[in-house]
Amino acid sequence: HVGVSRRLITEEQVKKTLTKRMPDAHKGSVGRALIIGGALQMTGAPVLTTYACLRSGAGLVTLAVPDSIQPIVSQKLTESTFYPFKSKNGQIESGQLENVDYYSNFQGVAIGPGMGREQEHQLFHAFKNYVGPLVIDADGLYHLSRELQLWKKERRSAPTIITPHPGEMASLTKLSIQEVEANRFDVSKQFAMTYNMYVVLKGPFTIITTPAGEQWINVTGNESLAKGGSGDVLTGMILAFLLQHKNIAAAIYNAVYIHGKTADMLIKTHDVWSVLASDIANNLPKVILSMR
Ligand code: AMP
Ligand code: MG
Repeated sequence: HVGVSRRLITEEQVKKTLTKRMPDAHKGSVGRALIIGGALQMTGAPVLTTYACLRSGAGLVTLAVPDSIQPIVSQKLTESTFYPFKSKNGQIESGQLENVDYYSNFQGVAIGPGMGREQEHQLFHAFKNYVGPLVIDADGLYHLSRELQLWKKERRSAPTIITPHPGEMASLTKLSIQEVEANRFDVSKQFAMTYNMYVVLKGPFTIITTPAGEQWINVTGNESLAKGGSGDVLTGMILAFLLQHKNIAAAIYNAVYIHGKTADMLIKTHDVWSVLASDIANNLPKVILSMR
């Protein structure tokens, strides 16, 4: 049942809400994005997020990683810049995220892809005064899950967007994955409203929920996305789209729709076994063009 507060994301709606780049744009005016993630064991995830963010219209993208992996990730990314955080055992050292004034240089931040769980991070403390949108994904959600009480009590004034897959949503809510899957709408809505967050509950038929409880359902995407890296690409897309839209919900559902639509286009010429997350990022130019 799709009622007033639950809507399908249609192609028409995405086309209508996709923003244009102005002819007088410069790289600083179309969004400076910061992505924080990576660990010695996971160098690819933040690279995919950064690359997808660049492919989705951000003007300047900086990748912040443990200093020990900066030489590795910088080999893979030509168009971004880098910010090294002091590292410990290949991960960003505890305490490093919290003392950074640096975030104010960016219009949006995404945190989590491949960042690891060994060091403790206080995300609320780090970002409570940050005025741009904050996207939390992957291991960032693990750090978030340890301080949810704080997020409930004290609120950021800027939007916070979380992008859990069902397993991550189960950890955040302390429900089982089966319980999350059986109640995707209600679990999302309850979480979004309790913690004042936009929730992107991923999987086939991704659901997007606003802090006010409005919901959108996405019907693009297919099983070729069941591969490591797909979610990291989506995070970079969402961050970039947020920087080009005033309407937060539209930015998110456009990114989710186009991510899935790219996978749908790819399986016409590539077998579902063989599509890679980087193929999604590399084919965004065609799919976004088709939406203009
Ligand atoms: P993650 O688990 O973080 O890598 O995210 C996986 C991404 O791929 C999300 O955007 C999911 O919605 C999407 N995805 C994974 N499996 C499927 C599937 N079977 N059908 C549609 N989308 C999928
Ligand atoms: Mg993921």
